Amino acid sequence: MTSAGKPRRAAPGARKTAGVPQARLFERLGLRTPADFATHLPLRYEDETRITPIGAARPGAHALFEGEIVDSEIRFGPRRELQATLADESGRLGLRWLHVYPGQQARLHAGRRVRARGEVRAGYHGLEIVHPLITEPGTPLPDTLTPVYPTTQGLPQAALRKAIARALDEADLGDTLPAAVREAYRLADFEPSLRLLHHPGPDISLESLAEHNHPAWRRIKFDELLAQQLALADARAARRAQAARSLKGDGSLTGRLLAGLPFEPTGAQTRAVAQIGADLARTHPMHRLLQGDVGSGKTLVAAFAAAQAIESGAQVAVMAPTEILAEQLWRKLSEWLAPLGVAAVWLTGGLPAAERRRALQAMARGEARLAVGTQALIQDKVEFESLGLVISDEQHRFGVGQRLALNRKGDQARYRPHQLSMSATPIPRTLAMAFFADMDVSVLDELPPGRVPVRTRLFDDRRRDEVLARVGEVVRAGRQAYWVCPLVEESEALQLQTAVDTHELLRAALPDLRVGLMHGRLPAREKSEVMDAFRAGDIDLLVSTTVIEVGVDVPNAGLMVIEHAERFGLAQLHQLRGRVGRGGGEATCVLLYQPPLSAIARERLRAMYETTDGFEIARRDLAQRGPGELLGLRQSGQALLRFADLESDEDLLEQAREAAAWLSADFPEHARAHRQRWMAGADQYLRS
Ligand code: ADP
Ligand code: MG
Repeated sequence: MTSAGKPRRAAPGARKTAGVPQARLFERLGLRTPADFATHLPLRYEDETRITPIGAARPGAHALFEGEIVDSEIRFGPRRELQATLADESGRLGLRWLHVYPGQQARLHAGRRVRARGEVRAGYHGLEIVHPLITEPGTPLPDTLTPVYPTTQGLPQAALRKAIARALDEADLGDTLPAAVREAYRLADFEPSLRLLHHPGPDISLESLAEHNHPAWRRIKFDELLAQQLALADARAARRAQAARSLKGDGSLTGRLLAGLPFEPTGAQTRAVAQIGADLARTHPMHRLLQGDVGSGKTLVAAFAAAQAIESGAQVAVMAPTEILAEQLWRKLSEWLAPLGVAAVWLTGGLPAAERRRALQAMARGEARLAVGTQALIQDKVEFESLGLVISDEQHRFGVGQRLALNRKGDQARYRPHQLSMSATPIPRTLAMAFFADMDVSVLDELPPGRVPVRTRLFDDRRRDEVLARVGEVVRAGRQAYWVCPLVEESEALQLQTAVDTHELLRAALPDLRVGLMHGRLPAREKSEVMDAFRAGDIDLLVSTTVIEVGVDVPNAGLMVIEHAERFGLAQLHQLRGRVGRGGGEATCVLLYQPPLSAIARERLRAMYETTDGFEIARRDLAQRGPGELLGLRQSGQALLRFADLESDEDLLEQAREAAAWLSADFPEHARAHRQRWMAGADQYLRS
């Protein structure tokens, strides 16, 4: 292939690019073994199998044309350009080069027949291709579409194509699925599917390839999901092999807890308590997620779990990601458990040294049976005499690193502690299946009686006065309100300043109201004073940053205003809204927004307006942000799934999960080979 007009810098097949060895560039794409290369699949294709009549050229299309150069000239504008016109019987097309190399024009002299390939665009003088690839007419055309692979800077397609073609010869492409499994799920064979996706024939629907719903894609996606399910099953088996103390309980605390409650637990709470109770009695560590929308009463379930562990002779640690949230838990848990004689300590980073030492000692000696606090609890210095259960609230707010630290805590003892995580941000079912299959899940799908759905209203910021009037009305009616300050993500100092300013403005605008201020930088003692005052009804309007986002529970709060709502994420808005409507009459959430709204902000606000169902919100959040961000893994830069899509491939995920169990039980060798092909390096990542 000659390429008359091709700029020199794109030298294909070069061993090195800008000094980075090719192996390193491949590594960047996660390509090490032949299997890695063979399963690196095209993003899209270019059709070089046929020649398009020039008259059929459309802007945006990649296509190959053949014709005669009818003119070519060098233009001296702001810079030198080479322009030529290609013509066939059906029409004319401009060809343009922004750099001119010696001899280039001579090669494109008028009267010469050439082929030109590239992306057609609407130029100043009609349709044109900038920097087309020029080839000789008469060379045979490929009979398959040309793959375009995901690549990284400095790695040309030609090099990737070559390496992948080689891998397709060298790699073992044997089918890792036994015929019985392929038949049961009507799966295409592996090798033909893979080859088809790398080099599809021209008769294959480009749409079915682009949409990933061709049978070949279905097979590959199934394989990817299956590999992930197999890895999760292994992680689960590894956990089953660990030892935990069986915490059966004797009812001495749990029975009294139930008897002393001022209300009946909901059916959902009773079910979750029973599931957790059964897990705690086992001799391998529980790993359970308690999901329940805001206000569904997760704390009570935690109290029952703690009580069962404590009556079985174990210690319990309860952690929350923020001081406010930890204090909220402490308040509830000690309200329920202290009357039963449970010795408890409170531990946060802000504790005076002497108190902290006493608390640590009480845990190390086993005098304290329950410890509640923030992450300070999981720091290395903290020792327990017999830690049997770790409960973490809103665990998704812990970084991945912190979760790992927590896991290691158990290594110190002979036994691993049981683990219960609680989250109000429901993980959509598909995501849970794909990434938390190693966890058992209990769901609180029922709210305690007497809750009214929060009404959500959207207000353009220019109608702020109406909102202020509304705050006044609510307070005169004996209720309280939250005002959430605009989020300033770029700077903590600015965020603080915004909170202080907002507080001042609202005080001036609503002079007859008692207006309080809460933000993350307040000393711990002041934070709890402010929260106490709000809880006691001594503050009418609480101006706050998102520190109130999770867990804060003041039933008399009937209105929440969120300023610059367009800056918040969907899950965050839902959490904030959950602070109102917690008993005691109707509740409203006002989303104040500043137009113009971006499309995505508009979608978010619409979702908030349309539904109060946390699961629906989570589903839309997933659709908007993708699983990586939802799981807090975005920074890791690693794609969670390359080919399958959790939204549209739910059925396939279901089948892959079933098949994983089948394979593990009946075809362990196939299972091993399958994992080897798909996940050589991805394991430790899945475990965290
Ligand atoms: P969340 O699931 O959001 O953490 P909480 O545990 O804070 O919810 O519970 C919200 C409120 O509901 C608390 O005031 C709690 O005491 C109360 N509550 C919990 N369970 C019940 C119940 N079964 N009946 C009535 N109120 C309940
Ligand atoms: Mg809670």
